[in-house]
Amino acid sequence: MAPILTRRQFGAGFAATASGLLSRPAIARGAAKVVVIGGGAGGATVAGTLKSTAPAIDVTLVEPHAAYTTCFFSNAYIGGLYDYASLTHGYGGLAATGISIVNDRAGAIDTAKKTVTLANKTVLEYDRLVVAPGIDFQWSAIEGYSPQAAEIMPHAWRGGDQLQVLRHRLEAMDDGGTVVIAAPKLPYRCPPGPYERACVIAHFLKTHKPKSKLVILDAKMTYAKQAAFQEAFERYYSDIIELNLTNDIDDFTVTRVDPATGEVATKAGLTIKAAVANIIPPQTAGAIALQSGLADLGWCPVDPASFVSAKAPNVYVLGDSAVANEMPKSAFSAHSQGLAVAAHIAAELEARPPTPGRYRNTCWSIVAPDDAIKIGADYAPGPLPGGKSGLVPSNAFVSKPGESAGERKATYNEAFAWYPTLTGQIFKPASRKS
Ligand SMILES: Cc1cc2nc3c(=O)[nH]c(=O)nc-3n(C[C@H](O)[C@H](O)[C@H](O)COP(=O)(O)OP(=O)(O)OC[C@H]3O[C@@H](n4cnc5c(N)ncnc54)[C@H](O)[C@@H]3O)c2cc1C
Repeated sequence: MAPILTRRQFGAGFAATASGLLSRPAIARGAAKVVVIGGGAGGATVAGTLKSTAPAIDVTLVEPHAAYTTCFFSNAYIGGLYDYASLTHGYGGLAATGISIVNDRAGAIDTAKKTVTLANKTVLEYDRLVVAPGIDFQWSAIEGYSPQAAEIMPHAWRGGDQLQVLRHRLEAMDDGGTVVIAAPKLPYRCPPGPYERACVIAHFLKTHKPKSKLVILDAKMTYAKQAAFQEAFERYYSDIIELNLTNDIDDFTVTRVDPATGEVATKAGLTIKAAVANIIPPQTAGAIALQSGLADLGWCPVDPASFVSAKAPNVYVLGDSAVANEMPKSAFSAHSQGLAVAAHIAAELEARPPTPGRYRNTCWSIVAPDDAIKIGADYAPGPLPGGKSGLVPSNAFVSKPGESAGERKATYNEAFAWYPTLTGQIFKPASRKS
């Protein structure tokens, strides 16, 4: 462990140990170094929170994109209820706090040497490493699907250009066409996301291309906020949405696509010719986490009290890449985890005892203009059924069918207030002098 030394401690030549005792001569060195891989909801939260709460720490944020376009709230854009520019956030606010922003991709992590090698071969040393690279796709799970195929049959499941590809294809399709959404099995990013997307696309079709249909091909038997979504499908889009959940007889997992013909085929043998296909493939932790040995079975196990990696010392994994039990893979979760990770790192580097993390999630879903539903819970480390430790939910809530229009409008307004608040907290944190 490398405690941060105050100027006074440097002068005295002593460093505090983890137990808080002044014991041995300090190694003359600069500020403790924290490298954060990934400038999304999780990584940017850690970087900004750490720098504003412990300004003496040297924080470097590695992110290949000059600006971040959020996947969260992007369904509002897909449905024509929010503009694309408002989803995009630069890193200037984080840079202004003194964080070094490195616009490159992390190519390799050496957890023994405590280094990160960037794509341009620069080597960064760290005392603590934060890995928050989001998700990657299991391209090979669907025959015919690939990054090239996604230009025609977008997943739109990571922020950026893919969102515009999907929106532009919806705008360009003829009235009377079929839109197909392929939803994967859990775990994946944003469990209610495919059903919210179905609602906002169906809203677009209803208002612009009313002869069109939307077919959901789902690899699952049940899904998040099911009762409230089901009510919305029937109330607003009964002529448009056809939901095919996998059941005991038919498996609606999409197994093959043909971007040249628009065909989407399921395991059960159903083939649909789609005018627009939104193919959401099965997912894994971000590739850098897999390549660096931080994952088991595609996702990264962590200590639920701190999000310290179960696979490597001095490394934290958070956000969508981490195994967080029932805590959904959401931006709200990633931000909540990021606050806890920043507090844990600051405590460790300042040789204070860290406090176990407490987390929260809320996910809003727009089902129609002025109508939104939500689900959420608090999470704390504790025993799970079966004896393992993990994140235990409490105070859980979920929107129910039959809620009043007023309640739904209030939930809709909450969602539209949440987005700018959260992105402001993440990308424009308060700065403090060291
Ligand atoms: C359609 C849709 C709707 C959603 N709606 C909501 C919502 O309403 N509410 C909600 O809370 N969540 C929502 N989400 C989920 C949310 O977007 C994710 O859970 C959240 O972004 C996860 O944060 P993260 O930091 O783990 O990953 P990300 O936000 O994806 O950030 C990962 C970052 O890491 C970078 N990166 C990857 N590899 C490397 C590397 N090797 N080197 C350097 N950088 C790297 C990427 O460029 C990216 O910027 C939605 C998702 C989708 C798809």
